[in-house]
Amino acid sequence: MKDDYCRKTSHSKSGPGDAGKTGSWRILRPVIDPAVCIPAKRGTPSCYMCWLYCPDGVISRGIPPEIDYEYCKGCGICAEECPTKAIRMVEESSFIKEDT
Ligand code: SF4
Ligand code: SF4
Repeated sequence: MKDDYCRKTSHSKSGPGDAGKTGSWRILRPVIDPAVCIPAKRGTPSCYMCWLYCPDGVISRGIPPEIDYEYCKGCGICAEECPTKAIRMVEESSFIKEDT
């Protein structure tokens, strides 16, 4: 039981939880600008404040970091914590218009 709890911490791998694919809850989508994101600019793993603070553990520590939109709820904490303001919260509806 304790192990189950530990797997649900913020740094566990994203995946189906009790609420399923929570990405459908999202109203705003976080979008990372690689021109401003520190690891993308430097080409080295660094910063990752977004990864550290994401409550759902859906951001990878890649270059640049990647967000798993199937599970990101759009809470905006990553955008708040990013030291360079590399993450913009964009209306989810604007992506629906692009798809149609
Ligand atoms: S917090 Fe901002 S600058 Fe740092 S890795 Fe995340 S997106 Fe890039
Ligand atoms: S919006 Fe919230 S859930 Fe989505 S990646 Fe950012 S911190 Fe994580």
